[in-house]
Amino acid sequence: MTTTPSTPAVPRLRANMAGVPAYVAGKPAVARAGLEVFKLSSNENPFPPLPSVLTAIARAAATVNRYPDPTAGAMLAAVATRWGVGVEDLATATGSVRLLAQLAEITCAPGDEVVYAWRAFEAYPITAAIADATAVEVPLTADARHDLPAMLAAITERTRLVILCSPNNPTGPALRRAELERFLAAVPRDVLVVLDEAYREFVDDPEVPDGVELWREHPNLVVLRTFSKAYGLAGLRVGVALAHPEVASTLRRSATPFGVSAIAQAAVVASLQTAAEAELLERVATLVAERNRVVAGLREQGWDVPDAQGNFLWLPVGERAVELAGAFGAEGLAVRPFAGAGIRVTVAETAANDRLLRVAATLLAPGQRAGADVSS
Ligand SMILES: *Cc1c(COP(=O)(O)O)cnc(C)c1O
Repeated sequence: MTTTPSTPAVPRLRANMAGVPAYVAGKPAVARAGLEVFKLSSNENPFPPLPSVLTAIARAAATVNRYPDPTAGAMLAAVATRWGVGVEDLATATGSVRLLAQLAEITCAPGDEVVYAWRAFEAYPITAAIADATAVEVPLTADARHDLPAMLAAITERTRLVILCSPNNPTGPALRRAELERFLAAVPRDVLVVLDEAYREFVDDPEVPDGVELWREHPNLVVLRTFSKAYGLAGLRVGVALAHPEVASTLRRSATPFGVSAIAQAAVVASLQTAAEAELLERVATLVAERNRVVAGLREQGWDVPDAQGNFLWLPVGERAVELAGAFGAEGLAVRPFAGAGIRVTVAETAANDRLLRVAATLLAPGQRAGADVSS
């Protein structure tokens, strides 16, 4: 049989795949002569791995002719001890984004609904689209927070998954205990609620609950954590889900076999050693102090910055996002623009944060200066 040029043999893909958006990664900093450049576009941890973690990585590297422990047993035992939960409540995968995709796979049939706030983490629409689920995006409030009453109202018979992002990437605010408890009490018991806490370690608002504590009270709650941000292991790809046993075991069964490498497992175990973790959390405290300093400085300049509870801050500059990101880039600061919405900036080294403040002061539109009406 021949194929004529006018009818090329194109493999038939699932129809929904054409509508799957591409993940837009933060761009690297562009080298500039005589200028140290900083990548503030992917919410990475600016601190290099601890020596003890590097040693564990090197030791594990010597075993890569073997498959890793498929159960990630030592790693999950360390996580379970640290969180005070059972290993049967845990599942791991190559980053919490992979766990999120698995959660959509195990809950959604085509046409089922996934409810999440928008704007939130850009992996959410991709995850829903790949699962052939219908994304139900509930707009954030004017102060860039989840609108939980509106999200509750958006739940229908078809809703299988609700994703909450706290702190919310890219806008910064975190969900507070009272609103979250009210929401969880009202969500139908058979709808899985995912609390994506990728930045939980950076939270300093005492009103923000710890997902691990909330999880005990709610059989339909899954908490996602990652070692990519506070623990500085983004390049190793490892996330953990805390779920009730039936969901956790389904996540384990739906996982890519041997997904999390021996190197990643060893790095997590080393990072959870008491002294190592204390040092890592000290670095987190440094970043939190820097975040609060930068947010205060920007607000003083007149920028409208929402509450920032992660390792990043949000400049809601709307149509100026791409233009202003270019201006920061010209000064050696790679930031993450979201066209038409705003700019997300990762808090990093003091030198980067200082430069951010310096450059930001030169970029404010006249109408945005402190004291001016910015309500338009
Ligand atoms: C960075 C991030 C993740 C994490 O990702 P990994 O896949 O674990 O690296 C998850 N959720 C949100 C909201 C994030 O910003």
